[in-house]
Amino acid sequence: MSNLFPDEEARSAYEIDYESLYGQGYRGIIYDIDNTLVYPDAPADDASVSFIQKLKEMGFKVTVVSNNGKSRVKTFADAIGAQYVCKALKPRAMGYRKAMEIMGTDPGTTVCIGDQLFTDIWGARRLGIHAVLTQPFTLKEEIQIRCKRLLEKPVLARYRRLQSEKERS
Ligand SMILES: [Mg+2]
Repeated sequence: MSNLFPDEEARSAYEIDYESLYGQGYRGIIYDIDNTLVYPDAPADDASVSFIQKLKEMGFKVTVVSNNGKSRVKTFADAIGAQYVCKALKPRAMGYRKAMEIMGTDPGTTVCIGDQLFTDIWGARRLGIHAVLTQPFTLKEEIQIRCKRLLEKPVLARYRRLQSEKERS
């Protein structure tokens, strides 16, 4: 169960304290695309492009890792100036490993940021990668993702309950 719990939660990928992550020694960031950096299937926009640019200036390497196909993922990655791994079959380890190889990082220096517990977070945590769960932009999603959201609910509830108990003690 605990591998399904994120290391931290954030409202959005754009509202994370990246200075602090850099200070903690993280150098590579793995991003999910859909519902994490932009709305599902939406193209890169000015916000995502300048955001990734800023992270690179801070000294981060950035790779998008997506279960989507090459046309979607490469187009998006090229637009924001990031590396990419497509058809990653998250939560399988392959895509995360490939991304770390590209960035020259390891699980101790890599952060994974995504909106889905059973793909983004689980896959990262199994490899010991620091995992940040973000809130999806929209819940109007494909049917199989909506099913996964239902399964996420009890896990998230348990995680949040444990977190608030920790904060109180
Ligand atoms: Mg997603």
